[in-house]
Amino acid sequence: MPVLSYVHQLFNADTCHVYIHTLRWKDRPLQCPRCQSQDVDPWGNYHYRSGCKRYWCNGCKRTFNDLTNTLLHQSKRSLASWILATFLLCLSCSARRIARELGVHSSTTYRWCWWLRNTAVSYETDRRLEGTVEADDLYHTAGHKGQAKRGGPKHLGRRARGRRKKREPGRGHYDKDRPAIIAWVSRQGAVVLQATRDFTVKTVQKAADLAVQAGSRLYTDSASSYRALKGYVHAFVNHTQKEYARGEVHENRAECLFSLLKPYLRVFRGISKLNLPGYLGFFQFLRNFRHQNAFEQAQLILQAALEPTIAGKARKGEFVRYLDHFDLLQTVRN
Ligand SMILES: [Zn+2]
Repeated sequence: MPVLSYVHQLFNADTCHVYIHTLRWKDRPLQCPRCQSQDVDPWGNYHYRSGCKRYWCNGCKRTFNDLTNTLLHQSKRSLASWILATFLLCLSCSARRIARELGVHSSTTYRWCWWLRNTAVSYETDRRLEGTVEADDLYHTAGHKGQAKRGGPKHLGRRARGRRKKREPGRGHYDKDRPAIIAWVSRQGAVVLQATRDFTVKTVQKAADLAVQAGSRLYTDSASSYRALKGYVHAFVNHTQKEYARGEVHENRAECLFSLLKPYLRVFRGISKLNLPGYLGFFQFLRNFRHQNAFEQAQLILQAALEPTIAGKARKGEFVRYLDHFDLLQTVRN
């Protein structure tokens, strides 16, 4: 076998465990993940996983280790695979690409990517912009990609179509497989991306209330939903009259963000409209932590993944959820 067939096989297993151990307990007290008792004693190591420390909880009289109830709990794959997968995810690789580089099945990496993306979104749930904020909207074709819940082909109730669905004239809508994406870009640098069912006045007002602090200055185009917004100092440029900037009033940063988002989403070769908020949330994370390199971003994700409460929610997809009564596909604020 050539030496460089898989780079993660060159990782030292003990070093990985020491790294994860440090990350797990760095900013947290050593406590039982089941009963939160801090009355714990060391309980040796595993002979087949040296470096993974085991503890005895005097509260619930059970043992736990560095990985109990985290996202990496009960995974048969090595820690090196997890660390490399997180790193590759931050380099915008698709689940299939990661599967090929790691030598695992793509359904494994699909699950991992889904969990890790949700974990990253936990950093973004409370983000609200202030100051001068630009907004713009985009309609992304997203249908029913993926298999049925129990495997096999999915029943669509209609004729199958290619990924290159012909565009219908006018604005997109969730039910027409073209949900809207609204980008809020602060001139200070932070961004918020939201996937919404439609682009009505009500939806845009709710989206703005969640993303931007009241009283902020808002620059948009002349779409009527923006013009009806309440609670902001609002100015807009009129694209139909070929006006793209009027002094300080423009939305070029928001349009620039879409020029980065489009090639990011293209890598996945079509995404399901149900998963669109997850991909957007992760892209938002990557943009807001863009001053750090992919290793540092991966470390942030792994640190959150080692927190049992975040891991539990990430596995269930609770940070990115489809909200019906809100008419909004939005990250849930907790
Ligand atoms: Zn306990």
